[in-house]
Amino acid sequence: MAEDTRTSGSEHAVYLALGSNVGDRKRHLQCALRALEKKGARIVLKSDLYSSKPYGYEDQGDFYNMAVGVLTSLPPFSLLQTLKEVERECGRNPTFRWGPREIDIDIIFFGNLVLSDVELTVPHPDFRERDFVLRPLMDIGRMIVDPLTEKTVEELYGLLTKDTCVNLGSLDAEEGVSE
Ligand code: AMP
Repeated sequence: MAEDTRTSGSEHAVYLALGSNVGDRKRHLQCALRALEKKGARIVLKSDLYSSKPYGYEDQGDFYNMAVGVLTSLPPFSLLQTLKEVERECGRNPTFRWGPREIDIDIIFFGNLVLSDVELTVPHPDFRERDFVLRPLMDIGRMIVDPLTEKTVEELYGLLTKDTCVNLGSLDAEEGVSE
């Protein structure tokens, strides 16, 4: 993508993974992208849309997934609160771990930050095993280096034993984002 990805002194480069497997999946993702922009996370990189098989608990519908690169001046825990607000606003209902969800947004990388807290772990603790995170990330950040393993996204993707992702093209091209 050709957008400006320079960071000003106070902005952080953050990579987010989004997923939805309930209701109008594209609409939930579009809602989340619009709400992120409104709440101070400027989207500068956007992957294609993928469908993927559910992970952990398999008796549920397929997911739509994507990844975005954002610039934000929000610190990590404020960003996490913002993501939870966006999930609520875009229709997320409470569910169980790995259960179906209208919209889920995870922080994969927050710059080079390494953080382990009950509320927030960065890089995301499970992203290295997830095809539905690594495949979209390959579109927008294959050379990003995981600060914990020091492997690139491309190397981590190459270590996956399976990839259930199917490329569906651009989210915007499918239906257009209604303003
Ligand atoms: P989820 O069910 O995926 O929405 O995540 C449940 C909880 O995971 C959230 O309430 C967060 O406090 C926690 N969490 C820990 N690390 C992360 C991360 N990197 N991104 C998003 N949520 C996280």
